[in-house]
Amino acid sequence: MESKSQSPHRRWNPLRQSWVLVSPHRTQRPWQGEVAQKASPSGVSYDPQCYLCPGNKRAGGVANPMYDGIFSFVNDYAALMPDSLPAFAATGSPLLKAEPARGLCKVLCFHPDHSLTLARMTPAEIRPVVDAWTREYQELGGLDWIQYVQIFENRGAMMGASNPHPHGQIWSTDFVPDEPAAETKAQHEHLALTGRCLLCEYLAAEQAAGERILFENDHFTALVPWWAVWPFEVLLLSRRHAGALPEFTGSERDALADALNRITIRFDNLFETSFPYTMGFHQAPTDKGTHPEWHFHAHFYPPLLRSATVRKFMVGFEMLGMPQRDITPESAAQRLRDASEVHFWPRS
Ligand SMILES: [Zn+2]
Ligand SMILES: [Zn+2]
Ligand SMILES: [Zn+2]
Repeated sequence: MESKSQSPHRRWNPLRQSWVLVSPHRTQRPWQGEVAQKASPSGVSYDPQCYLCPGNKRAGGVANPMYDGIFSFVNDYAALMPDSLPAFAATGSPLLKAEPARGLCKVLCFHPDHSLTLARMTPAEIRPVVDAWTREYQELGGLDWIQYVQIFENRGAMMGASNPHPHGQIWSTDFVPDEPAAETKAQHEHLALTGRCLLCEYLAAEQAAGERILFENDHFTALVPWWAVWPFEVLLLSRRHAGALPEFTGSERDALADALNRITIRFDNLFETSFPYTMGFHQAPTDKGTHPEWHFHAHFYPPLLRSATVRKFMVGFEMLGMPQRDITPESAAQRLRDASEVHFWPRS
């Protein structure tokens, strides 16, 4: 099959072991759905109402320090707690199954300036954030009961982010959550079957094809994956085989900061808006097993479809059948390649 096919087809995602339906001809249909608000960047460096700005009080009355770099704290409204829990009472049926779930949820502020984003920070300002993510992965993953450390960022009201202050979250759990568990299984099976890393081989195939690659720096490759579900979904892969953040050298951490900055600038420039997304790292579980199969990567899942205000919905066939997309990953990659790496809204 020619990858640029304009007829309906489905593509295999070997990392999730699932399919996505691609329907390029549908982009001609008229749009009469919801039109969301365009998100203008905030110009306010300090917001007295923001619970993440330096010196401000958080819910519960704790005051943030006057931090001038990164700042992390345990989430005041954590979804999971570290306390030992009693076993779940027997339900009388093996189909009504439950297990206690423990975890530690933290918030990491990337910068004291309320108005900034990864797109409007410099790579030199993002590097300490990469160092903090690495430290958190080591510290949380080093706890003997933590099996997985999920680092992520929700950006924009469209993704449910309640606060524009530049920050991310780190949820660490005493179990491996479903997405990384599925990717662990797929990568493990590929290594066992072929003796090679799934994502090292996938990266080589994408480099040979070229048409879905956004850019490469010395140590990372950004691309729209073959199996992308979200219109402008991006996968960021380390070019060297490494399972987790602590394996990266100083220059690799610099390259990661550079790549995160360049992806988010291109996103913002695409529709001249503060581009919403969920971004997160997938890396080796910290369950004390060895994980030679694991290849570090970041997923960007942005909801915008055709402008700053028209978003993609996952409804109907996608909820009941399988994910589906209209524009091809190749045309999305072309548009992101065409987007400038100079932010449309420079810092004064
Ligand atoms: Zn703030
Ligand atoms: Zn690899
Ligand atoms: Zn992944």
